[in-house]
Amino acid sequence: MSDKKLRIIPIGGLGEVGKNMMIYEYGQNILIVDAGLMFPENDMLGIDYIIPDFHYLLDKTHWVRGIVITHGHEDHTGAISHLLENVNAPIYTTPLTRGLAEIKLSKGGMISKAQFNTVQAGDEIRIGPFQVEFFHVCHSIPDGVGLGITSPAGLVVHSGDYKFDHTPVDGKPTDYAKLAELSGRGVLALLSDSTNADRLGWTPSERVIDSAFHDVFHNAKGRIIVASFASLISRMQQVGNAAIDFDRKMAFAGASMVENAKIARNLGYLDLPDDLIVSVDQALKMNPQQVVLMSTGTQGEPTSIMGRLSTGTNRQFDIMPGDTVVLSSHPIPGNEESVYRTINRLFRRGAHVIYENIAPVHVSGHASQEEMKFLFRLVKPKYFIPIHGELRHLSQHANIARQVGIPDDHIAVIENGWTVEFQNGQMSIGERIPGGYVFVDGAGVGDTGPSVVREREALARDGFVLVNLTLDQDSSNLIEEPEIITRGFILARGGEDFYKTTQTLVKDTVAGGDGGLQEDLEETIRTFIYNKTKRRPMVIVTLSRA
Ligand SMILES: [Zn+2]
Ligand SMILES: [Zn+2]
Repeated sequence: MSDKKLRIIPIGGLGEVGKNMMIYEYGQNILIVDAGLMFPENDMLGIDYIIPDFHYLLDKTHWVRGIVITHGHEDHTGAISHLLENVNAPIYTTPLTRGLAEIKLSKGGMISKAQFNTVQAGDEIRIGPFQVEFFHVCHSIPDGVGLGITSPAGLVVHSGDYKFDHTPVDGKPTDYAKLAELSGRGVLALLSDSTNADRLGWTPSERVIDSAFHDVFHNAKGRIIVASFASLISRMQQVGNAAIDFDRKMAFAGASMVENAKIARNLGYLDLPDDLIVSVDQALKMNPQQVVLMSTGTQGEPTSIMGRLSTGTNRQFDIMPGDTVVLSSHPIPGNEESVYRTINRLFRRGAHVIYENIAPVHVSGHASQEEMKFLFRLVKPKYFIPIHGELRHLSQHANIARQVGIPDDHIAVIENGWTVEFQNGQMSIGERIPGGYVFVDGAGVGDTGPSVVREREALARDGFVLVNLTLDQDSSNLIEEPEIITRGFILARGGEDFYKTTQTLVKDTVAGGDGGLQEDLEETIRTFIYNKTKRRPMVIVTLSRA
């Protein structure tokens, strides 16, 4: 052991679900684990996704020795292209994770900046002062790894997303032997996934889905459409297996599904015979009983295929009465409302909809409480830091750690930005680095702040009022009647009266005004409208002089 400190700094994923990113820092050396995105809550209008705030790294980019990505889900890979805009370091990942990340990077035009190093579970690699051992973990995507990270400060085990599935779809259980071996060496700290810390028992094996799908395929009279995440490769395998058993052809709908399936098949992570797969066009020409389509859109996203099918606005095909739609997923917290709205619409269009609450067509990829206890017993860490989850998940995970005998002062429940330091085998909580999150919308990265989102919310809720004034160049008197335009803002009664009164108000204010006329007017109109209607539309005053 050395007297230098190992610093562990969560940049994302602690205190929230998504945008996972962890910094391991030893001396002037940084190892980054994961760089994910988070999908916005439905009240963040116009935001495509949210990425971690890399601010801490910006003056230390030359310290970064490597980036390790644990698996191919977007909450672990989705911010890589943004990270590479700031950091120039090799990326270490397994083949499938690399394939899926490369698809995203080529879209963002960052593929040429990415130096990938393919690793396999079981490999051991030196990254600066860190000796990193990759071990296989089960999750809802193949080729996931957990990490043993040895620095002179000691051995840390980083679980990544994991579960203990004895009968996984790809036949590869979590590497218990490696975990036991790491344990034997003495584990200074465990950082493990808290996503399901509030779920009792064990997460069911992915295999339970097989019988649920068997029932669906057995009972379906028409087409079957299965919606899932584009990265749920093992679900594609299970749907494919059922399709073979029930003599249906399988088609992938939507660009991300098609691309991910292609990569996974090329790399051997998806075993589907060529004659099983047809294009969507071919599938649409076939007898409904002979096809199953897989698409994205399990979260009720209006622009996804499932969202468009539910509103009858999909380009290539529509829902037909007799279709069976399977939502093979769990709503991400916050999305429940839009998911159920989509389900209702699909029923209205004549589809029979099967979802998690009525049949086990989805199981979680994350460990439940008993698996968490099992991991503690297996790894026997001295210290514990719960990762991946909202504060309630992290706190519950800490409770579970206490149940298996980890003392309270050996557990660090922290949120993004807090640093945890290890020195001479002792853990302490250090400073909190500043940071927040960065919104990405169609227009760019980080130019959209919370205030822009608030404006969009105001617009969506209460509409806007636009007042155009034409003033005399010299006298600054109004030379035309103020033009008042409103959108999304309708007065239940007295609309006429409103325009007249507002015009009068505007004229009076202009007559008495001097500098700062626009702001004054906006404020006056806002107050006036609020007093009259209790609503707060956005008010914009424009001036032109003639
Ligand atoms: Zn995951
Ligand atoms: Zn995750």
